[in-house]
Amino acid sequence: MVVVMKENATEEQIQKVIARLVNMNFDVHRSTGVSKTIIGAIGDKRGVDPRTIEVMEGVYEVLRITEPYKLAGRTFHPEDTIIRIKDVVIGGDEVVVMAGPCSVESEEQIDTIAAAVKRAGAKVLRGGAFKPRTSPYSFQGLGEKGLRMLREAADRYGLLVVSEVMDKNKVPLVMEYADILQVGARNMQNYDLLKALGRVRKPVLLKRGMAATIEETLLSAEYIMAGGNYEVILCERGIRTFENYTRNTMDISAIPVFQKLSHLPVIADPSHGTGIRDKVAPMARAAVAAGAHGLIIEVHHDPENALSDGPQSLYPAQFEKLMQECQIISQAIGKKMDLRLPPAKALAAG
Ligand code: PEP
Ligand code: MN
Repeated sequence: MVVVMKENATEEQIQKVIARLVNMNFDVHRSTGVSKTIIGAIGDKRGVDPRTIEVMEGVYEVLRITEPYKLAGRTFHPEDTIIRIKDVVIGGDEVVVMAGPCSVESEEQIDTIAAAVKRAGAKVLRGGAFKPRTSPYSFQGLGEKGLRMLREAADRYGLLVVSEVMDKNKVPLVMEYADILQVGARNMQNYDLLKALGRVRKPVLLKRGMAATIEETLLSAEYIMAGGNYEVILCERGIRTFENYTRNTMDISAIPVFQKLSHLPVIADPSHGTGIRDKVAPMARAAVAAGAHGLIIEVHHDPENALSDGPQSLYPAQFEKLMQECQIISQAIGKKMDLRLPPAKALAAG
């Protein structure tokens, strides 16, 4: 970091700052210009609060020159992270789509939706069994029963499973059924959960918190990676702003920003990003055009009767049309989307 002293800083104040930085194990380089003294501090500043120096007498400002997320950042890992789960590759030039209901509701419901999303070309079946609902009186999910239904439906159609884990004690249970562990927006800063996910070896889908900056999101990814689990997928799912026409404001610009700062795959969730069915497809297309490595989309065959997030769930036919549009867009930017179905006998064999 670089410490810029005020023009009228005294030699004593400068020496105190230098002593403090040395004490914090930094290599210090002083340069005295015509009007200002600048102190360069080189070393591991992880865990250092810049305000410690900022509040010292004679200091004008403290500038950070490296990012605080060493593992999630591109500086020390310039090439993209590619995550391979069975035959699905996330983070490469293929746009991978995860789709399914907000919540698993019944065997019949998840089977119908799994068949529909598979037909349209999705690779991963989504569905919540542990639901973080704003109201304690809303449907909370089917728990392990729901996870089992989700896994069985996914296996019948040759899909992977992504499902949310809300509690660090439930990580082993959700891991038994899911291929990708989802951290919801409300839990992005649940540091005990992030640490627990750092200890396992399964890909994590980390959703951006609804009031989280891009840097805070990357620091949450860093928590998981610091534990040794390097397979983190970032997800932009809209942030809370002053705008009320949509449930959240879908921050499409976060996609290229994340990709510039981090090597991790970035996907987009236009369902929660907008909260309104007719806004989902436009934002999904925009996310693909912006370079997202994938999408996660809520689909329901009977959204009027869905137990959660019906108004933002696409009908299967809308989803199928969207997939075809996204395929065209991905080709236009040098990527691909594989919508082909596997041979019928592979489908039958599950
Ligand atoms: C969900 O995926 O159903 C969900 C609750 O998402 P988020 O955490 O982004 O609100
Ligand atoms: Mn939902």
